[in-house]
Amino acid sequence: MTMYVKASGSYLIVNGWNADLVTKAGLDPEVAPVTWDELLANAKKVIDSGAAPFHGALAGYSELSITRFVPSYRQQHHSGVELTLDCERSWPPLDFDTDGAFLRLPVDWFHDVPRDESVKALEHILLSVAPAVVACDPSDLEGSRSGATIYIYDSFGGGVRLSESVYLRLDEVVQLAYRIVSTCPCEHGCPSCVMLPRRPDGNRDLSKRGALVLLERLNA
Ligand SMILES: [Zn+2]
Repeated sequence: MTMYVKASGSYLIVNGWNADLVTKAGLDPEVAPVTWDELLANAKKVIDSGAAPFHGALAGYSELSITRFVPSYRQQHHSGVELTLDCERSWPPLDFDTDGAFLRLPVDWFHDVPRDESVKALEHILLSVAPAVVACDPSDLEGSRSGATIYIYDSFGGGVRLSESVYLRLDEVVQLAYRIVSTCPCEHGCPSCVMLPRRPDGNRDLSKRGALVLLERLNA
């Protein structure tokens, strides 16, 4: 099922569904759900049938409204002391609309791993491997997350639909991410797995173990 959402989460516009999945779930792909309740009931049937990939996580492709701003910066002294300071004056926020793939993980997947650290580590590794799967430059895609939802979006205003390829090949992205994280010999995460070298300030509070557990659940 394909959902088009606003990143603010204030509403959803559902404009289509995956005919193969609904057929496998025993539904008629020619019959559209008329009400929101019918749509949710159909989605539940698809998940319960086991036809949907990712075992209860919801994958989709959506239009996103992105706001980029710089809330703080880090001051580093040669002695090694670091200070994080709020930006009193900064560039004005940059707003743009684009397209993105999203992956929403079920709440009950976080009973044994820390949510924010695990989702952040998972976002990093998905954003690292997605350009290799869809054959684009790493700077063509950006990542973001909100709660248990990860977004991988085109980093251009208007979008160039690269993230649509990410959505369509998300199973390959997840499998490659799993292979890398599960075989990386580091203990707590390194630039070869869940650290993002392009975000030198953003590689704290990562749970490599949590990302591995979530990847196992996505691949199960
Ligand atoms: Zn590593």
